Amino acid sequence: MGDSIRNLVVVLGDQLDRDALVLRENFDREQDAVWMAEVAGEARHVPSHKARIALFLSAMRHFRDTLRDAGFRVYYRELADSAEYDDRGGADESLGAALEESLRRLRPDRIRMTAPGEWRLLREMQTRSAAAGLPLDVLPDTHFFDLVRDFKQYAEGRKSLVLEYYYRDLRKRTAYLMEPDGKPLGGRWNYDSENRESFGKNERPELARPIAFAPDEITRTVLAMVERRFGNHPGSLGEFDWPVDRPQALQALDDFIQKRLPDFGRYQDALVSGEPYLYHSRLSAALNLKLLNPREVCAAAIAAHARGAAPLNSVEGFVRQILGWREFVRGIYWTQMPEYAERNALDAHEALPEFYWDGETEMNCLRETIQQTMRFGYAHHIQRLMITGLFALLLGVEPARVHEWYLAVYVDAVEWVEMPNTLGMSQFADGGVMATKPYAASGKYIQRMSDYCASCRFKPAEATGPDACPYTTLYWDFLARNRGVLRKNPRMSLQVKNLERKLPAELKAIHLQAVKIKKNPGSIGV
Ligand code: FAD
Ligand code: SF4
Repeated sequence: MGDSIRNLVVVLGDQLDRDALVLRENFDREQDAVWMAEVAGEARHVPSHKARIALFLSAMRHFRDTLRDAGFRVYYRELADSAEYDDRGGADESLGAALEESLRRLRPDRIRMTAPGEWRLLREMQTRSAAAGLPLDVLPDTHFFDLVRDFKQYAEGRKSLVLEYYYRDLRKRTAYLMEPDGKPLGGRWNYDSENRESFGKNERPELARPIAFAPDEITRTVLAMVERRFGNHPGSLGEFDWPVDRPQALQALDDFIQKRLPDFGRYQDALVSGEPYLYHSRLSAALNLKLLNPREVCAAAIAAHARGAAPLNSVEGFVRQILGWREFVRGIYWTQMPEYAERNALDAHEALPEFYWDGETEMNCLRETIQQTMRFGYAHHIQRLMITGLFALLLGVEPARVHEWYLAVYVDAVEWVEMPNTLGMSQFADGGVMATKPYAASGKYIQRMSDYCASCRFKPAEATGPDACPYTTLYWDFLARNRGVLRKNPRMSLQVKNLERKLPAELKAIHLQAVKIKKNPGSIGV
């Protein structure tokens, strides 16, 4: 093995895919090498949760070792234990700067990589390779069912994009949950109506604890380093138990299929105090790092149904998330960027309340969700959409600030999936590209779907007065201030009509209470 390098294959932190084309095709272990780098700038460009940083770095180190064991030459830049001793790139080194420095030393003939998931990194890689005068080959990311160009083709000529039709198209193409005659298995495409159960006020789900992975030596080293270097970042590391390599990710998949998939559908939208995971899979981070392939994940769920171990409403609901939503949001991201990041269709400009970083608020639903987020780096979809996301929407927080928060605090956060979910689905900042209407609701929705309100000092049915639920006050205020836009949306007509039934005096009182909340959200109820 000589020192000279023909192709330097760049592998990013969320490209830990042993089956990637760049590692399989035209990779000559004699002439080619892999390059990976840990850089502080990636942890700091939004103030990442410590568990998110640790997960990425531990998974990268495990992947490096897997490649080396398989005979690949890997150049790997580890973050030093302390910024003081990091003599190369400094405390905020960017990935591009790290690559440039390595290119000067390694002098490869060309650079190859899988298409980055994030627009910013694609541009950065293009700029740095051009500056170094080196050709850059960007290979398609075959981890996904659709290549970006397939989605672009699908989107072309369509007036609007609707998840349901795209999902059905993918069901037909993959033959997942399909009868041989081309009809959906069970006769329906969609079992959403069976997937909206909640637990009663006093009912508790019976849950088996999800599989937990005790940190091995690599992870322990990373956890200690993250605590030392990123100690002032949000979140804690005390509960870190995420899968960090492929064998663990496969165990996590198996654990979900056996213990939680059967009830996944039924309780998909439920919220329960003290239960961060309920029947959710906890697989998003392993999928986004590419430790798992979405095909094997869907196949495992479909096989469970075929052997009678999981009902169709659960399996279809789960496949819809991965085959449908996950692919759809990626398509939206890559067809709408870079302008997408700037969208603010509802002209919202409030600051993100400080309590989003520590959960110190009297609102029980928000306190539960945020404190759980800081503890685990995880919240399930309905907590993200209908607790933290809903409050920011109703309050009118600037979408870019909401986006930065979501990108920072979840272990599974990567921009291509986080941004359309936040700006589009949750904040309606894209004016309806992702979702056909804003997910706006009052405290009564949260009361129906959770047990949070039972131990909260506010009353979800009240919109004004000292006991009024801030969600309910802000819900009516949201409808009133966006009435002009919402009136044009037929799916909002009932909500707008209900608003118009309110007497002017009531609307005025709501408005005054909303103004007080907005002035100082941290003091709600105090
Ligand atoms: P499950 O409920 O078990 O779902 C199974 C899988 O389906 C997930 O692992 C995920 O891969 C996929 N999935 C489910 N819902 C979505 C969706 N809306 N979009 C794309 N994929 C989906 N997901 C991320 O992976 N990263 C993010 O940064 C992220 N940010 C979000 C921000 C907001 C405001 C919202 C509303 C949603 C966000 N989601 C994000 C989507 C979803 O909430 C998470 O994928 C899910 O909660 C992860 O937990 P789980 O693996 O237990 O999911
Ligand atoms: Fe949340 Fe309002 Fe219910 Fe309290 S009453 S938990 S603030 S929805």
